Amino acid sequence: MRLSRYFMPTLKENPVEAQIVSHRLMLRAGMIRQSSAGIYIWLPLGLRVLQKIENIIREEQDRAGAQELLMPTLQPAELWKDSGRYDAYGPEMLRITDRHERVLVYGPTAEEVINDIVRNELKSYKEAPKILYNIQWKFRDEVRPRFGVMRGREFLMKDAYSFDLTYEGAKHSYNKMFVAYLRTFARCGVHAIPMKASTGPIGGDLSHEFIVLADTGEEQVYCDKRYLTMEIPDENIDYDSDLEPLYQKWTSLYAATEEKYDEAEAKAVGDNLLSARGIEVGQVFYYGKKYSSSMNVAVAGEDGKPVLFEGGCYGIGVSRVMGAIIEASHDDNGIIWPESVAPFKVGLINLTAGKEETDKACEDLYAKLQKAGVEVLYDDRDERAGVKFSTMDLIGLPYQLIVGSRGLKNGVVEIKNRKTGERKELSPDEAINLLAK
Ligand code: ATP
Ligand code: MG
Repeated sequence: MRLSRYFMPTLKENPVEAQIVSHRLMLRAGMIRQSSAGIYIWLPLGLRVLQKIENIIREEQDRAGAQELLMPTLQPAELWKDSGRYDAYGPEMLRITDRHERVLVYGPTAEEVINDIVRNELKSYKEAPKILYNIQWKFRDEVRPRFGVMRGREFLMKDAYSFDLTYEGAKHSYNKMFVAYLRTFARCGVHAIPMKASTGPIGGDLSHEFIVLADTGEEQVYCDKRYLTMEIPDENIDYDSDLEPLYQKWTSLYAATEEKYDEAEAKAVGDNLLSARGIEVGQVFYYGKKYSSSMNVAVAGEDGKPVLFEGGCYGIGVSRVMGAIIEASHDDNGIIWPESVAPFKVGLINLTAGKEETDKACEDLYAKLQKAGVEVLYDDRDERAGVKFSTMDLIGLPYQLIVGSRGLKNGVVEIKNRKTGERKELSPDEAINLLAK
């Protein structure tokens, strides 16, 4: 992409409405604009990151054996009456009446819709278990939408739902999702710690919130420091046999949200106890027969009698993850994207756009990098070098490839690592090889 043609409206000044750094930087880098309170337009640069996060989530869900489908944003109110949640959900749920006076809701979550399709289509125990997920926009009419995409009203969520015949089966599905979450967040470049979370009126102790530690987090949390260096399960994990020991390792240390804080347990952690603020980026939740009994979601068991499903739900706030990554990874000059979610890998800076020698060298590098499959944003604008440097630092691409006449005379270009600040002079070919790795 050539920056001269790209729709990336950056801002020099800090927007006054933004209270936290991720919101400020997403506005300044031209990634989002607010459309109405808590509802955003995703501009090209922001959308690229959102889609990268989405794809990492998708790969890990698929790896864990979950199957993707896509449910509508608008759901029939009847289903919510069926589950008993229509009145209970309250004013956070946006309700819409169509021209035939039928009430629809803009889904804040999708337990009702998924349980409806499963009760209609699954007939026999032989078809279980299943884990189904979708990545779809949700709407919650939050009283106080704030912090940009962190607490929006419209936001992108991955929500998965498991259907098992037994408690043991449901626990197994829960564990698979648990490990998938560890891998997902690690691949997104953030450290998310699974913390015991409250299950609300449903009860039970099988729920974890995945929390990224950040000063601006809305939750007070307590955890064992050793979580910060715990090893992440690799992609070769056998979800069916190796899971228990890994799961146990990851749940053996103390980590809890405020509602689940336990003084005795916290004391036992001793010097390793960390009290911090955190951002909830995901939650896994076992809810048993809550929906299968209220909505009658059953299949015929081996003996022909109906078996109600044991269920769980598993959410990730895809758009919130982006905010959390920025909260965890930035400096005074801007964002520092982890490579896995960066909108482009390289920013190519032409220090003297319009000058034949640098133009030619840049065009050549630009073409070769693209050919090598490297995502590159080429700053070909007629701007001062200082402006180009600060733009690149602001949008936080992992590498800057800087091309100037002086270097070219010596046959070199410069690579700057955004995160470490380290600079290296290399020949153009060496630079391409390094970046294509
Ligand atoms: P919170 O406690 O922050 O309001 P929640 O517990 O109600 O969130 P869940 O129902 O568990 O949210 O939804 C799954 C995920 O969706 C959350 O872990 C979070 O990452 C994300 N999420 C929830 N509400 C919002 C929101 N208003 N804006 C952005 N992401 C959200
Ligand atoms: Mg939650």
